[in-house]
Amino acid sequence: MLDQLQRIVVTGGAGVVGAHLTDKLLERGDEVICVDNYYTGSKRNILHHLDNPMYEMMRHDVTFPLYIEADRIFHLACPAAPIHYQHDPVQTLKTSVHGSINMLGLAKRLGIRILQASTSEVYGDPNVHPQEESYWGNVNPIGIRSCYDEGKRAAETLFFDYHRQHGLEIKVARIFNTFGPRMHVNDGRGVSNFIIQALRGEPITIFGEGLQTRSFCYVDDLVNGLIALMDSPADVTGPINLGNPHELTIRELAESIIDMTGSGSKLTFEDLPQDDPMQRRPNIDKARDLLSWQPTVSFEEGVRKTIDYFDAHLSGNQHPTKPVGHA
Ligand code: NAD
Ligand code: UDP
Repeated sequence: MLDQLQRIVVTGGAGVVGAHLTDKLLERGDEVICVDNYYTGSKRNILHHLDNPMYEMMRHDVTFPLYIEADRIFHLACPAAPIHYQHDPVQTLKTSVHGSINMLGLAKRLGIRILQASTSEVYGDPNVHPQEESYWGNVNPIGIRSCYDEGKRAAETLFFDYHRQHGLEIKVARIFNTFGPRMHVNDGRGVSNFIIQALRGEPITIFGEGLQTRSFCYVDDLVNGLIALMDSPADVTGPINLGNPHELTIRELAESIIDMTGSGSKLTFEDLPQDDPMQRRPNIDKARDLLSWQPTVSFEEGVRKTIDYFDAHLSGNQHPTKPVGHA
């Protein structure tokens, strides 16, 4: 644990994970500087902190250098949903590569610790299951997911080269599918689409036959894992998987959501997007051993909270999220 006030930079702090992380950091007494260009993030996610003197918001694109003073950096800036990161693939790749170089440069100048929000997408369409950190992955370098997957892989390379070459203290988290309140209404992801479709009584759009699997982690659990990794001893660099090993087919996901919402929605089947991974489940032994971390929120509990969020959102009790790319 930290024994004095820390000024913590959260890039991507207006996004889903960044906003939940910010809540927790402020709650424990840290000062937070959010660095975000609102590409997919929203002011709505952080509105409740704008009057807090311990919180500061900087509208800034991480593909440009940044000169500020801080004690630690959580580097989360990057669109995460496929339709978001495919909207402007060149910018996505720039965000991962130029953005990481700039944030690593900032950490190097200040001599501070930096954590990278990497992803299970570095494993691509994995032919090892469940995925452990020693697996190098199976990624298409030229497909429609590559701007994200290869960008995150290059970012991992940069983190480890800064560590080896400049002795920088790094932490690399490989985050598996995460869900929860503040997800974008229009991000096209499985959990958000299915909940919204179920609440509206619309057909549930299954891509392919729905036999592909994912393992969904509730956002609070993920945030606890990110903080545990950041606060771990210096020799714990990762990469380290953070996710919930509870694996479901996409069809099972849809059926659970229909059950839990009591919806009359029926399944409808559409083409599977190119390079959509067939299976995905984290091996989290390393996180258990090195961070004493594991998820504690059940899938049902997490989905229930997310349904309540979207229910309130759709009934107009919260403001809708803007489309991607518009600040
Ligand atoms: P998100 O899209 O909600 O948040 C990303 C934030 O980064 C947004 O606020 C966006 O405006 C900001 N951003 C994007 N490009 C930027 C730029 N060039 N400069 C400054 N800010 C920029 O996504 P999220 O779900 O909160 O994901 C956060 C991080 O975690 C991302 O790096 C993502 O790759 C990683 N991750 C997320 C998941 C998941 O399932 N949510 C899984 C694996 C990894
Ligand atoms: N998916 C689906 N219908 C949708 C949205 C997504 O069947 O309306 C599938 C998608 O093809 C993928 C899985 O759900 O196999 C998870 O997709 P998501 O975008 O949530 O995450 P990712 O593909 O990045 O793991």
